[in-house]
Amino acid sequence: MKVIAILGATGSIGKSTLDVIRKNPDCFEPVLFSAYTDGESLLQLGKEYPNARLALAGNVENAPEAIHYTGREGLLRAIKECAQSGGAHVLVVNGIAGAAGLEPSLAAIDVGMDLALANKETIVMAGEVAIRKAREKNVNIIPVDSEHSAVFQLLRAHADIVDDAISGNLGAAEKLDSIILTASGGPFRALSSEQLARVKPKDALAHPTWKMGAKITIDSASMANKGLEVIEAVKLFAMPPDKVKVVVHPQSVVHSMIRFVDGSIYAQLSKPDMRRPIQDALFFPNKGMVSFDNFDMTSVMLEFEAPDEKKFPLLPLAYRVAKARALYPVAYNAANEEAASLFLEEKIGFLDIAHIVESVLQRDWTGAVTVDAVWEADRKARSCVYELKNLLFAS
Ligand code: MG
Repeated sequence: MKVIAILGATGSIGKSTLDVIRKNPDCFEPVLFSAYTDGESLLQLGKEYPNARLALAGNVENAPEAIHYTGREGLLRAIKECAQSGGAHVLVVNGIAGAAGLEPSLAAIDVGMDLALANKETIVMAGEVAIRKAREKNVNIIPVDSEHSAVFQLLRAHADIVDDAISGNLGAAEKLDSIILTASGGPFRALSSEQLARVKPKDALAHPTWKMGAKITIDSASMANKGLEVIEAVKLFAMPPDKVKVVVHPQSVVHSMIRFVDGSIYAQLSKPDMRRPIQDALFFPNKGMVSFDNFDMTSVMLEFEAPDEKKFPLLPLAYRVAKARALYPVAYNAANEEAASLFLEEKIGFLDIAHIVESVLQRDWTGAVTVDAVWEADRKARSCVYELKNLLFAS
């Protein structure tokens, strides 16, 4: 029995994680569920797993007694106490969306829990800190983002060549020509710039291959998600940015590839279903039996094309950010998060997301990556977005 804590249990990643656990009831025991505001679903989970503790991280008044922890502090305390209970090795699945996932990740690493990481912001914002701490505490960071899960599996499968395939500790860069991240291209791949200027949130939310939360779906449409994933790969696998490539692959079957210096490319293929990378992380370092539909390779033609960097400027911007390092990734992430939510609220147009992020990045984001500096930069970048929005849309 592996003991599991699920953060963001009522969101898209959380639900998929629970699917895997329900299919493998003899392998996993959930001991903690957290949600942000969905107390109702959290209470349901409490009924299904009466031994699990429940944490509601949003600001809640009069939380029901069955919910053991509330607020941000409550969630961090829950993580700490869950590590100390039972004596078993706890695996934390962090499926929290956005910057809010960083503190819980660091808290889990601090108390020595392995981290199945779907929250890419942890690595984008403070990967330097998280990976260093994880090494000190002997903690595994197992990527759940489908592309990084694919790369992680490919590197582990070639561990004899790339040495130690533990996050950020690879020494892989010299043996690898490149990591090739695939991108679905999102729902707007075929639109012209004129059409892009007029798209509405509901158009972006209709993703062709992946079913995900609202924020990541907007990021997928703007390719900011791929930008964040480039930065994530650079930090997680200790790769120089020019060795991390992106190729558009609309069928989302090849989840990523690695190319060795001899030119051979290895790929990981499976259905576009987040339960697969989640299952891989839950069973790590072993392999689980397939719990869901297998991919039928005669069912689909696979296509690959170069991304259109003119139409989707958030992707080339991410490369600039990945090269600059320091607090630039924090600013990119925070500015994009705010701009994407302004778009979701229909306060700015789709193309304004990239304009705003680019303007925010023109400021100075140099400095050492410490937890305090990360939050300071995060706050500053968000207030920059609102200054810019007020300037741009003053009339
Ligand atoms: Mg991904």
